[in-house]
Amino acid sequence: MKRKNRGLLIGRMQPVHNGHIEVIKETLEEVDEIIIGIGSAQLSHELKDPFTAGERVLMMRNALIEEGIDLNKTYIIPIEDINRNKLWVSQVEMVSPPFKKVYSGNSLVQVLFSEEGYEVIAPELFDRKVLSGTEIRKRILMDEDWQSLVPKATVEIIEEINGVDRIKHLNKKEISEL
Ligand code: ATP
Ligand code: MG
Repeated sequence: MKRKNRGLLIGRMQPVHNGHIEVIKETLEEVDEIIIGIGSAQLSHELKDPFTAGERVLMMRNALIEEGIDLNKTYIIPIEDINRNKLWVSQVEMVSPPFKKVYSGNSLVQVLFSEEGYEVIAPELFDRKVLSGTEIRKRILMDEDWQSLVPKATVEIIEEINGVDRIKHLNKKEISEL
């Protein structure tokens, strides 16, 4: 059987936003299957990483369904950090289905995979001024419009888990720090 041409896209997806969905759609034009790696899977309940891996899996899966993307062509794999950059590619290889190409805009991810001989592609960024996790987390904190930057699925999951309150609460200082 011919080996499938699989591509890997890794991101922390804090939260899943429209930029991720666009890049997944474009990547699926080039590969048979896409592996979506949910990075820093062990982190949650921090301002930069508010959502658990499970919550992010749910956002991603429901967003793929909402967008009509064929789930049979996708894998969603949580990937924990090991804090040993040189060994991280092996860690990814251990938990992911085999893949040939890596799609990432992150320079560390690019360096680590190309040093291990992978073909690395830097996908075009869509509307990056606003389509970034950092911008969306900031807007959630400031009560600005963030809903238009993410799939409906992300809005629904954040509502279901009281994610806005979680982020605002994480931003509060201890009384002793005031
Ligand atoms: P943060 O600001 O928290 O780092 P992010 O928006 O960069 O969030 P990541 O999960 O770090 O999101 O992104 C993972 C990968 O998704 C990036 O390396 C990039 O390849 C892709 N990506 C992110 N935003 C966009 C975008 N606006 N357009 C296209 N691809 C994107
Ligand atoms: Mg990023």
